[in-house]
Amino acid sequence: MLKVNNIETWYDLIRALHGISFEINQGDVVALLGSNGAGKTTVLKTIMRLFYDAKTEQPEKGTIEFLGTPIQRRDTSAIVKMGIGYVPEGREVFPELNVLENLLMGAYTRNDKDGIQADLENVFRHFPILRERTKQQAGLMSGGEQQMLAIGRALMSRPKLLMLDEPSLGLSPLLTHEIFQIIKNINEQDGVTIFLVEQNVNMALKYAHFAYLLENGRIVRADTPAVLREDEDIKEFYLGIA
Ligand code: ATP
Repeated sequence: MLKVNNIETWYDLIRALHGISFEINQGDVVALLGSNGAGKTTVLKTIMRLFYDAKTEQPEKGTIEFLGTPIQRRDTSAIVKMGIGYVPEGREVFPELNVLENLLMGAYTRNDKDGIQADLENVFRHFPILRERTKQQAGLMSGGEQQMLAIGRALMSRPKLLMLDEPSLGLSPLLTHEIFQIIKNINEQDGVTIFLVEQNVNMALKYAHFAYLLENGRIVRADTPAVLREDEDIKEFYLGIA
């Protein structure tokens, strides 16, 4: 479904991604793991083409194909319209807008009223709390509620592929479990392919079908959770089991 081939992304003179390649198969939950500064967020921003202020086009090299079409030089709104949803790190909901307004912002590329209403119902099915809070100002919600709203907003573009940057960041273990369960439901019930960036390796390996490990801008491992869990280096450095 998504084919990333040999991409290089730079921040001025710093090369953040050193020619990385990977694939995401339709229907899977795929995790991108790695420690702070490995380049995980940069991978997602490169796919969404969120480098407005860069002096040169990013990625400088390589190609990104979504459903067979090269997208590495498309605008972000076109990429959303093609079917990639994005939940950025730290949620970034519109704090002054209420819940319903935030959700409708997620449908800005669409004009099919009935479809939008049906998707709104679907979001409320996954996140009943958002239905109860439609009029609440988003900036006043808790971290977990804002994460739910950010995921709900991304669903409103009716994505085929949903990319999430650290959905567990700053959440309690209980809420993290809840969020991961909902992500699993979105994958299984709605048929949305999931690409998940996580520092919480333990949780990610519980829910993913396949995982890539990124270190210093390079993919160093690509395997199933079952294999990665038994890997001595991963146990020691990422799972804290010596
Ligand atoms: P984290 O989990 O801490 O967000 P990450 O794996 O997502 O880490 P990135 O944010 O993608 O890592 O950063 C990769 C590298 O690029 C880091 O060395 C970082 O310092 C650098 N970097 C990221 N954004 C910028 C920027 N706007 N300007 C310069 N360097 C940047």
